[in-house]
Amino acid sequence: MHQTATKRLTHEDARQALLDARPDWEQNNWYSSALGGCMRGHYYARKGEERTSSLDTKTFMKMEYGKFVEEAELAGWEILAVEKGLEIDAQKRLTQKQYHLSGRPDLRILAPSEEKRIIEIKATNTRSFMYVKNKPNPTHVKQLQSYMWMDNMDYGELIYFKLDWADMVVWEMERDENVIQEIKHELIILNRCWESGELPPVPDELVFEPTLFFDRFGNAKEKAATWRVNWQAKYCNYHKLCVGENWEEEATKKSRALNKKAEHERLKPNPTGGAGTGEGGHDTVPEETAGAIPDSDGKTAVGTEKK
Ligand code: SF4
Repeated sequence: MHQTATKRLTHEDARQALLDARPDWEQNNWYSSALGGCMRGHYYARKGEERTSSLDTKTFMKMEYGKFVEEAELAGWEILAVEKGLEIDAQKRLTQKQYHLSGRPDLRILAPSEEKRIIEIKATNTRSFMYVKNKPNPTHVKQLQSYMWMDNMDYGELIYFKLDWADMVVWEMERDENVIQEIKHELIILNRCWESGELPPVPDELVFEPTLFFDRFGNAKEKAATWRVNWQAKYCNYHKLCVGENWEEEATKKSRALNKKAEHERLKPNPTGGAGTGEGGHDTVPEETAGAIPDSDGKTAVGTEKK
């Protein structure tokens, strides 16, 4: 071992170089992968609005790992295609002109008919995997359903790989016209805003929902509903445009205060004696407080979007 006065390039420099070398792309349509997220964020991305927060190298490398997982899965299907005579294609862009939607499913098996399906592959960390093992992420369901709609397919699969490769889960899905109606509704709003130049609505800042927790065997249990920062808020690249930099901190404080209040209400003695029922629901939150939470003035909110 020896010390050197020369400052060597680091692995962080290498990651940053890879991140900087990413090509810019122009978004000409709405993207399947952004459905179900914040519509305003989706709108900004299509507009080419400059992101107010940049991707950090850690998140970027996670995305790169995800790509390796996809490539490995696809390589297996390519071998099967030759051996079993499947007709497949990967990452081919689909479009729905009327609604200005496009997307690139990871894999399509086009023939023989009994194998026909559309496959979307996701890589997750261990924590997220526990959730998606119990229930697929609704935005991923929308993404897959939009592919089935655009490609007129009846069957799809959403695969989640845990990044350490120890586990995977496959959600098999039939085409669901109810989800497709929701997608159309979202696209109608986005297209209307696009034509009029009006910004799409912001999502609620806080949500009141049950949460999952896991016992030591990894079994999911449901906890009573609590107030939480809307997940769409966390991954938005345009916070400075809409809500300012400290919104998450503020929203977290608000959710804590509401939960404390709700807990207090729950523990209050009721007229028949004893504490409250503890059952979830908006009723446990004083109306004036609950009413103050969501807004439509762009001062709160949240989201995610990707190509
Ligand atoms: S700050 Fe909120 S409303 Fe604005 S784009 Fe992001 S998620 Fe959407």
